[in-house]
Amino acid sequence: MEETLFTKIRDGKIPSVKLYEDNECFVIMDINPVVKGHCLVIAARPYKNIGSCPLSTLNHMMEICKKMDAKLREALHCDGTNILVNNDPASGQEVPHLHIHVIPRYLTDGRTFGFVHDKYEEGEMVKLGEIIKLG
Ligand code: AMP
Repeated sequence: MEETLFTKIRDGKIPSVKLYEDNECFVIMDINPVVKGHCLVIAARPYKNIGSCPLSTLNHMMEICKKMDAKLREALHCDGTNILVNNDPASGQEVPHLHIHVIPRYLTDGRTFGFVHDKYEEGEMVKLGEIIKLG
């Protein structure tokens, strides 16, 4: 199987602060935190993105995110969290090995993800909705 930065961390070839590990995923602290306590829930196997990861693994990773969210609130007294995936390079993914960011947030932390919002033309949103609706 392909080696990535995160498989090297998983195997202890690169040091990390590991917070949890099981057969499906592991959790480390992000070395460059957006907010201190920022951690990464990483698939044990190097799936590149959400599309290539089995649903059972995704479900399990989300369960671990829920536990990390509770832990960050309890231990760091954060007011909320951002839980997000950069899904392929076009979305900003730098490490091509599926991971979920769990970032503690405080009402006073002043961080922003800097969303720049677009605007739809008249009727465009409904038309696009027809194209991307599920089922
Ligand atoms: P992404 O841009 O979604 O691929 O996120 C990759 C994340 O991995 C970034 O937030 C980095 O700060 C983090 N990162 C990179 N190298 C390391 C490392 N050696 N230990 C822990 N986190 C890392």
